[in-house]
Amino acid sequence: MELFPYPFRKGQEEIVKFLREVSIIGGAAVIESGTGTGKTVTSLSAAIEAAKLTGCKVVYLTRTRSQQKQVVTECASISKNLPLLCVPIQGRRASSCPMMSEDPELVTGTPEELSKLCSEYKRKENGISACEFFSNIETADLPEIIQYMKEKHPTQEEFDVYCKERKLCSYELTKLLLPDADVIVAPYPFIFMPQIFTRFSDWAETPLSSMILIIDEAHNLPDYLREIMTSEYSLRALALAEKEAKEWGDPDISDGFKITDLTGVMEDIIKAAREYLVEDDGIVPPYFMQDELMERLGTGSRTISSISDSLINVGEIISEAKKKKKKLPRTYVGSLGRFLQHWYMTGDGFYVRLVEDHDNTRLKVYCMDPREAAYPLTACHSSIHMSGTLAPLEDYARELGIERAETRVFESPFNPDNLYVGHVTDVSTKYEEMSDPENIARLEDLTVGIARCTDRNTAVFFPSYKLMETFIKDGIPERIGKDIFFEVRGMSQPDLMEVVEGFANTPQSVLFAVTGGRISEGLDFPDKDLEVAVVIGVPYPRPTALHKAFTRYCEIRFGDGFRYASKIPAARRIRQAIGRLIRSEDDIGAAMILDRRVTALEGIESTPSENPCKDIADSFIKKG
Ligand code: SF4
Repeated sequence: MELFPYPFRKGQEEIVKFLREVSIIGGAAVIESGTGTGKTVTSLSAAIEAAKLTGCKVVYLTRTRSQQKQVVTECASISKNLPLLCVPIQGRRASSCPMMSEDPELVTGTPEELSKLCSEYKRKENGISACEFFSNIETADLPEIIQYMKEKHPTQEEFDVYCKERKLCSYELTKLLLPDADVIVAPYPFIFMPQIFTRFSDWAETPLSSMILIIDEAHNLPDYLREIMTSEYSLRALALAEKEAKEWGDPDISDGFKITDLTGVMEDIIKAAREYLVEDDGIVPPYFMQDELMERLGTGSRTISSISDSLINVGEIISEAKKKKKKLPRTYVGSLGRFLQHWYMTGDGFYVRLVEDHDNTRLKVYCMDPREAAYPLTACHSSIHMSGTLAPLEDYARELGIERAETRVFESPFNPDNLYVGHVTDVSTKYEEMSDPENIARLEDLTVGIARCTDRNTAVFFPSYKLMETFIKDGIPERIGKDIFFEVRGMSQPDLMEVVEGFANTPQSVLFAVTGGRISEGLDFPDKDLEVAVVIGVPYPRPTALHKAFTRYCEIRFGDGFRYASKIPAARRIRQAIGRLIRSEDDIGAAMILDRRVTALEGIESTPSENPCKDIADSFIKKG
């Protein structure tokens, strides 16, 4: 059975063969495949073939909507060879629910909160549900809808519109389609968050052992898994918990203790934790919270454990009551209970406990080891992990605790001469050198020079927003004297896209962005939209207390903390930024890295440059 829907480009047949074999036998295929290898279509073709032979279901995991759309498009192409039912699913959103989309409070609701609220709308009274979009599903013509899906291959958004026109709930209908799906396209949480996975597996009527997982942009996975095992609680959340407690009668949580007694004590404890701050974070001793709570409340550890249980129970009551009133069932009291429980239940070694003080002091339990959350990767039938920047592959598999991993690097089929990469040897963003005004001035001069020396669209990637702000304060945009577009910390997705489109549509313009940010890691700039990149510095993580703890952990687990915690992530970020330049066979580009330390990184080939402007200009002349 040959499913690949296009004439093979160089190397693609080999990729399909490799992925198909591993997917059939079981275990993990971990690949780095360069731009133009067609990661989505090669992995889908291989996995679908394997699924047909093994009786498995393909679950393609993405992080963004645009990736999800790409998967649906490729499934449509493969369907020409073998009719497929491809079902995209997203976490529940208020915007796609006709019952909730008009309520501004619900826009901020998490999928779990909205799911609770939805169950209230679905509940039947006298045999009638309050949500007609749900009731209508009972009489919907499922075979006809499956036929529509197989013929039209709608994206999630297009399916929302289709359902809205027929007064059907797209989310509930999607759940009903999952058992028949050949390919499900879902965000990471559907597999990696246990409480979501259990429901998802039930809906799909498929156990993990019968799933072939494809993980796109897999270089993000270890950090993602660490994040979902991490929790935090801030002074601001505490104030909201106190307010909520008062609104709900401030119930007793233990022998005459009220919730506000606890929130008052917690406020003192979080403030007391500030003594551990070194700059804006610090490690707190493992038993800090237990000791402080016992001392301030005059109780034993068992009472404290029952206090967190009580908070969770009160939170459930509040959440239920809000749900009945069709309000967002959010509870800060319940989340305080869950945070305390997490703090108590997580052991040392894999976790570190911190205080952070950016704009809102918080306590945090940070998970350094992603292996526990990576459990689905060993329990599934097989998995495909791929990214353009995943190497060193054995280290990736080791970090996630994947024992049966077949690794392979597939080079880009594009002409390597289309991309010039150089580096400057007399500058660095090394911490000690950033207090040297001459070094900063040289970095600024080089940036201005390169941005001005060609008439091609140029991106300047900064290692941090802080350094970008220094450049702006020093008048670098004025010295460049061109249209400049800025990535801003925390900007919304629509605002970000406006910046990116503005830059791409303005000839000879300059984009200021950060390495490791949403622009440098996730967006495509084809053709002349971007041709020159200046990468300022090696983006080593800041030497925060958390980073030092993570380095120690890597040292113990892998024997080389600096390599795992700093060098590998920094190299990946630079490769991602440079990767924006070449998105198609005809693209040409030039990148200049302003840091001599780049030669110490694995996987980046660059040429020392004495005269960056001339070398960049010459590289374009050579490319014709
Ligand atoms: S069933 Fe669907 S339309 Fe009805 S409330 Fe739930 S999500 Fe909204």
